[in-house]
Amino acid sequence: MKIRILPTTCLALAFAFSATSHGEAPPPTAVMTKARQTAMTPDDALSRLKEGNDRFVAGRPVRRNLLEEARITSAGQYPYAAIVSCLDSRTAPEQIFDQGIGDIFCARVAGNVVNNDIVGSLEFACKVVGAKLIAVVGHNSCGAVKGAVDRVELGKLTGLLERIEPAVETAEKQTGGTRSSLDNVLVERATIDNVVHQMQTILRKSKILSAMQDKGEIEIVGGVQDLKTGRVTLVKLKDDGHAKR
Ligand SMILES: [Zn+2]
Repeated sequence: MKIRILPTTCLALAFAFSATSHGEAPPPTAVMTKARQTAMTPDDALSRLKEGNDRFVAGRPVRRNLLEEARITSAGQYPYAAIVSCLDSRTAPEQIFDQGIGDIFCARVAGNVVNNDIVGSLEFACKVVGAKLIAVVGHNSCGAVKGAVDRVELGKLTGLLERIEPAVETAEKQTGGTRSSLDNVLVERATIDNVVHQMQTILRKSKILSAMQDKGEIEIVGGVQDLKTGRVTLVKLKDDGHAKR
């Protein structure tokens, strides 16, 4: 199976990435309908997320009537994207991507890690409900990543942090730094590597989602949110010939 992963070293290039929009995009205030969802491509979905993040960063979120959106979407939901992000109280996807009710699925867990339950949720989001994009979004200064770096052990958290361990080990090799959460370079690298590792885990665990991506029905991207500015640096998985396994 060919898996398309952009090398982590290319993450910085994401600043230059510009998603291409196909066709006429609905206004950001438009509640998602079956017709709108069906008409969207994965690139359209990424553009809509990116535009929402641009509005958030600019301090110009759209005005919404959330109660009205709740009323309309109560009849059915047609979200266009599924976000896997951290439990952190500063990283709510609906806010940082300026989305309304019924626009996106959100799976939140400390360290934006992926297990079978999260993958099953993503399969539901994409295969059953029709979402066109999966985004794994980490953030800087992540307590879970720092905890994994410091090998914190605490109840059930211990097992969760083990899911970040592969990324920490990769980051250690890349940076040659001392394994401590005080090493900002190591933590930053581990954060990026963790996002990529979780993206790879989704594709490895789910034949359904990897097949959908191979057919171009969905796209999987990664990103890292800057807590101070709200900016999410997105990375698109693409078959660039550099990272296949
Ligand atoms: Zn976090």
